[in-house]
Amino acid sequence: SLTAGVIAVQGDFREHASAIERAARAHGERAEPVEVRTSGTVPDCDLLLLPGGESTAISAHLQRQGLAEEIREHVAAGKPLLATCAGLIVACTDAGDDRVDCLDLVDATVARNAFGRQRDSFETRLDVEGLDEPFPAVFIRAPQVASVGECEVLATFDGHPVAVRDGPVVGTAFHPELTDDARIHGLAFFEAPE
Ligand code: GLN
Repeated sequence: SLTAGVIAVQGDFREHASAIERAARAHGERAEPVEVRTSGTVPDCDLLLLPGGESTAISAHLQRQGLAEEIREHVAAGKPLLATCAGLIVACTDAGDDRVDCLDLVDATVARNAFGRQRDSFETRLDVEGLDEPFPAVFIRAPQVASVGECEVLATFDGHPVAVRDGPVVGTAFHPELTDDARIHGLAFFEAPE
C-alpha cells in the first residue's frame, strides 16, 4: 500500500485523504493517508498532497517546520505531489506576495484571489486533459495562474489556466476534494504523465 501524506495545516485534509483512497481503489491500488504537520514523515511518503486554505499561513508553517525542504526533496525524487488552490499558490514560482515563500515546484506564477468579488466562489464543469468527461470544479477565492513557463496546461477557465502539470506535480486553482469525483487525485497520483 502507498503512503499518502496530506499536509494538514489547514483546509480540507480529511476530504483529500478520502479522495486519495477512492482514487487508489479506482486504479486497483491501496493508499494509506497520513496527516503531516511536522518534519520527519514526508520522506516516508510515496505521494503528497498540499491542500488549499490560506497560503500565507500555510507557507509560514511549512518554513517553520522544515516541511518546505522535505516537500522539495520529495518532488526532486520524482514522487507525485498534488497542490490545490492555496497549495498551488505555495508551489508556484511567484505569487506576488512577500508573505508567501514559493516552493518553485510548478513553473508558473499566480495572482491570489484574482477571480474577483462576483466570482468569489463558483462551480463549473471543466474539460481536463486526460479525463474523458468534464470535471465538476469548485473554485473558492481561487488564484489565477498569471503566466506559465515549462509546464503543461491541463485545463483553462475564462482564458486562464486552472490546472497544470509540471513533471510529478499537478496544481489546480480549484478544490477537487469537494465533490465525490476523485478523478483529479487519480490523474495526479495513479496515472503516469505521457
Ligand atoms: N484565497 C486563498 C489564498 O490566497 C486561497 C483560497 C483557497 O485555498 N481556497 O491563500
